[in-house]
Amino acid sequence: MNNPQYRGRFAPSPTGPLHFGSLVTALASFLEARSQGGQWFIRIEDLDPLREPPEATGQIIASLDAHGLFPDEPVRFQSRRHDAYQHAVNRLLESGYAYRCRCSRKELQANEGRHPNQCRTRTKIDGDRPFAIRFALEDEDCHWQDQLLGPQHQTVQAELDDPVILRKEGFYAYQLAVVVDDIDQGITDVVRGSDLLDMTAQQQQIYRALGALPPRWLHIPVILNEQGQKLSKQTHAPALDDDKPVDNLFMALVALGQNPPANLASGSLDSLLEWGRSNWRRGAIHLTSR
Ligand code: GLU
Repeated sequence: MNNPQYRGRFAPSPTGPLHFGSLVTALASFLEARSQGGQWFIRIEDLDPLREPPEATGQIIASLDAHGLFPDEPVRFQSRRHDAYQHAVNRLLESGYAYRCRCSRKELQANEGRHPNQCRTRTKIDGDRPFAIRFALEDEDCHWQDQLLGPQHQTVQAELDDPVILRKEGFYAYQLAVVVDDIDQGITDVVRGSDLLDMTAQQQQIYRALGALPPRWLHIPVILNEQGQKLSKQTHAPALDDDKPVDNLFMALVALGQNPPANLASGSLDSLLEWGRSNWRRGAIHLTSR
């Protein structure tokens, strides 16, 4: 079954090698796509060289390969997409959806999130202090349907929540780049960790401002360590052992509530992934750990 209507992706930020939590997210997005005959892509979100060890990208791609998670197109790198992001920034500035902001974090905190420099309404920015560019949100009670979590509601506050889209240091921000690339790649379905749920309402406004329809979202619970912390580089999650892909994927299926038969744990990588594809049930994902 081929379904060109479904285009999914896994979009890691290369802050370190793949760990078990990111494998679970990758596998969920892969199986969601494959079980519906859809296409699946990998996009490396390498926007911030200061937080990204140079070897991490190669390690992530090698790990996904070792686990049989092959994309339908060559891997995309956000570090090669600066022109597209700049084009989007210009477009948002021209249409009044973005503004230059030179407030420091301190100034904003001291003003409860209001901009002491009146950045939203100022047309010219004087002085040579570096400035960021922010997206101008509208006040909104945003409602949408998550494919797993059901009805969602988030309040978006103009000015107070306005996200940076181009940082003072010259780096494009995640909030902008993720939307620009999901539009450009025609992504219809985003499967990602629920630590990003709070970004979704703002992203919907950026989609609208760029004249595009948002995708469907499915947020899966993040995997916690024994201390109840999200597995991440900050909490020292160990890198996956790429020599044990079947063990890792078996455990990832269990973490996703998929209940794989025990004999698959000693079988081949292909038979495990094939079982995952044909038995995938998103409704079996446990919702408790958000
Ligand atoms: N790059 C983001 C991260 O690794 C994920 C982006 C997304 O899936 O929307 O947290």
